[in-house]
Parts: sequence; structure tokens; C-alpha cells
Amino acid sequence: MAATAVSRPPVRILLVEDDPALAQSVSRALQSQGYEVDATAKGEPVAYSLQRGPYDLLILDIGLPGIDGFEVLRRVRNQGSSVPALILTARDAVEDRVHGLDLGADDYMTKPFALPELLARIRALSRRKQGNVEAKIVHGPLTLDTVARRAWLDDKPLDVSGREWAVLAFLLNRVEKVVSKDQIVQAIAGWEELSDNAVEVYISRLRSKLDPAGVKIRTVRGFGYMLEDITDAR
Ligand code: CA
Repeated sequence: MAATAVSRPPVRILLVEDDPALAQSVSRALQSQGYEVDATAKGEPVAYSLQRGPYDLLILDIGLPGIDGFEVLRRVRNQGSSVPALILTARDAVEDRVHGLDLGADDYMTKPFALPELLARIRALSRRKQGNVEAKIVHGPLTLDTVARRAWLDDKPLDVSGREWAVLAFLLNRVEKVVSKDQIVQAIAGWEELSDNAVEVYISRLRSKLDPAGVKIRTVRGFGYMLEDITDAR
């Protein structure tokens, strides 16, 4: 590894791969380049791990025991994480790649692949990430920082609980799209049980905070909610 003048914290990678031999060779190759790597064979805990640990990059196998890589990625994006994700797919199926990219993957590799090519893709992805440190979503007067999990309204910090934040992030990724209460429950429940009533409470709290600034969450009767696009009414 080349010595650098500027000391940067190492790039932390979460590798999700159930083939032990492949996981080991990829881990070693990444570590030899100075990356910090945590490897797991299961998809279920990934969304939670990303909430707890500051990972810079996700390498995700699609064929996993239990929930597959697509479902993992869906959950990761639903909780508002914008961590760069590279998916590994065993099949050279166009639909798989398209599906992965639709779900928010940043890049993909088809197995079998050459390690140097994987390393090159990882370098490109982490460069992109460094150029985009503040993964912010701006919606009129509202700004959400998906890395720090904070929110601002009219440039003032907005006091929201973790659950309210997650609901807001979910809606912000779907402006002008109707989402059901059940979709919100699925996206934010994690380990605990969560009822439709709880979702109503979070929505009502968010409304009381956002309405005065002109950020409107509309109720779609008998179905769910929709975050309205910002109009120039203000
Ligand atoms: Ca696999």
C-alpha cells in the first residue's frame, strides 16, 4: 500500500456473501488495499448493521440464504441509507442487473469476476462517495441528512425522533407517490412490532412540525399518505 501524506480514516466496507471461500478471498484482497472489512453471510441483519456502524460501502451478493440481496437492498434504501452498494450476481441476467440498479445499487459485478476489476470498481465508488460526503435530501425548506440522520427546517435543526425521521426519509424518497401505512410499517419497523396506529401518530407529529413551513403530508383516505411536492405558494 502506498503511503499517503494526508491521513484519512480507512474506508469501511460491509461484505455480504454466503460463499465462505469467495468471502475470504474478497476480504483479503480488500484488506491488502487498506480497507476495513466486516463480512457476513446473512442478509437479515444488514440494514440494522448499517444503522449502527458507519460503513462507507456495501458489497452485496444477491443469492443469499434467507432474504436475498434484492430484499436487503430494498430495506437499506427504505431506511434512508444512501451507502454506495455494489451487487454481486451469479447469473448474467439482464433483469437481475436492472432490478438491482432500480432498487438503488450503484454498480454490479457478475460472477465469476477478477479481483483487480472488483478493486477498481470499489475505488471508483468510494471516490464518488468522498465527493458526495453530505448525502442530503432537500425538499423546499426541509433538508434531511441521510448520513447523520438529522433534519433541518428553514435552516434550523428539526427535533424529530428516530422513528419520525425514518418515516420522513421514506416519504421524501417518494414525493407525490401514495404510500400505504403497511409500506411505512415494513420500512421502519425493524425488530419491533409496529402498528398502523403508531404510524398515524408519527405522521400527525410530523405534520404539526412541517405544516407551518408548507411541507404537506396528504392523507389518502382508506389507503395511506403522500408527501406533496413543494409549490411556490410560500
Ligand atoms: Ca451466494
